[in-house]
Amino acid sequence: MWIPPEAPSNEIERLEALAQYGILDTARDERYDRIARIAAKAYAADIAFLSFVDAQQQWMKAKTSDVLHDFVARDASVCTLVISSGESLVFEDMRTAPELEGHPLARDMPWRFYASVPIRGEGSNVLGTLCIMRTDPGTPADFELETLLDLAAITSHELSLTLHNTQLREQSNTDSLTGIHNRRKLDEEMPRAIRRSTRTSTPATLLLIDLDHFKEVNDRLGHQAGDDLLARFAAFLQSFPRRPDDVLARFGGEEFALILAGTDEDGGVAVATRIIASLAKTQMPHPARGQLSASIGIAALGAADDKNSWLARADRALYLAKGLGRAALSVA
Ligand code: GH3
Ligand code: MG
Ligand code: MG
Repeated sequence: MWIPPEAPSNEIERLEALAQYGILDTARDERYDRIARIAAKAYAADIAFLSFVDAQQQWMKAKTSDVLHDFVARDASVCTLVISSGESLVFEDMRTAPELEGHPLARDMPWRFYASVPIRGEGSNVLGTLCIMRTDPGTPADFELETLLDLAAITSHELSLTLHNTQLREQSNTDSLTGIHNRRKLDEEMPRAIRRSTRTSTPATLLLIDLDHFKEVNDRLGHQAGDDLLARFAAFLQSFPRRPDDVLARFGGEEFALILAGTDEDGGVAVATRIIASLAKTQMPHPARGQLSASIGIAALGAADDKNSWLARADRALYLAKGLGRAALSVA
């Protein structure tokens, strides 16, 4: 009798680990396709697939035949048995196995023999399965799981490499002093914001935020105190990007950039006004001028703008804002 298995006891940790890999919904990848192909060949199987299981679904990262759907509901996934038990699983014949009686799919699939092994992430959470199926029922006399287990281990290793690459990329996009994105990330994100704005016909606005009289902070308190204040200011700025596609980055020195996605010039002025007003009320003293302040240049993305012209317009606006006596904003 088919009863969808209980999630494993470490389910929350398992799902968090799976999310970290950022593999769900990614495009086809030759590295995983290759593993599925070798599995199919090694077992003379009619299909092999490599899948990951999240809270709702089993999602096929690689499969050797398109007869298999890209995903199935977790309740209807035979492989969830492997996720729950953490053990390899073999069915001589899915059509007659008592455990699968009443299963919504197993009786109708063209495949009958089934063998599946867990794919483990770092920390040994079971993230998915590597599985082969045959249309003919019955376990061949020389059948062994070793090759499938070896291929699952190779898959785990690929996953680790992917994870470390993601982490390295994140590191190289992070400013070490403030922990927010760096110039390099901004250089990547500005063209993305331009493409998104064009594709979705929505506005985007860039704010360049420069601390006022910051050189005096260093001169009076020393470079270390200046660094500390920069880090505090970056943390303060982090509450202003509100949408998922907004990007805050340290542009360089004591200058920061904020891309506001889906926001026009008026919206940019509103955010800049809030930053200036909020900074005046926040406990961040300037050693010679009472309170730390910033000036902000605002440029809504124009139809003819590329990254450089967009930045240049925001920079000109910033220059104008400084000319207004600081703690001010200006629009390009
Ligand atoms: P303004 O109001 O015109 O912006 O004056 P300012 O002093 O902020 O401008 P200026 O561009 O003349 O000087 C910026 C100063 O910011 C220079 C440097 O002392 C300081 N600065 C830039 N990067 C860092 C950093 O990483 N750490 C520290 N402590 N200071 C920095
Ligand atoms: Mg400055
Ligand atoms: Mg500056």
